[in-house]
Amino acid sequence: MMAAVRSKDTKPEMTVRRLVHGAGYRYRLHRKELPGRPDLVFVSKRKIILVNGCFWHQHGPCVASHLPRANREYWIPKLEANKKRDMKNLRALRRAGWKCLVIWECQIKGGNGLGRILKFLEN
Ligand SMILES: [Zn+2]
Repeated sequence: MMAAVRSKDTKPEMTVRRLVHGAGYRYRLHRKELPGRPDLVFVSKRKIILVNGCFWHQHGPCVASHLPRANREYWIPKLEANKKRDMKNLRALRRAGWKCLVIWECQIKGGNGLGRILKFLEN
């Protein structure tokens, strides 16, 4: 199961990649030297886009983040640790001067995340 957290070519991420590539932006993927190996890195703009799965990264208000009823004693600490790690990485990136946009799986599926991405890259 842990492999799914690290999965690099998730569908929402592929959607985002196609969008920004189609808009003419070039990026690097999962730079090892950056905290959390962020998804899309726009080096010259010093911007980063993080594409988060709603369950694995526990998107608070979102139904997709709801925990399974079984094995809660297993899931709760694991997902809490994911969340903490996300926050820590985000803080480290911002401190290092990166502008970061976190986009959630549900926002990409719903379509309203895509406009935000292009706006973020524009300015
Ligand atoms: Zn969500």
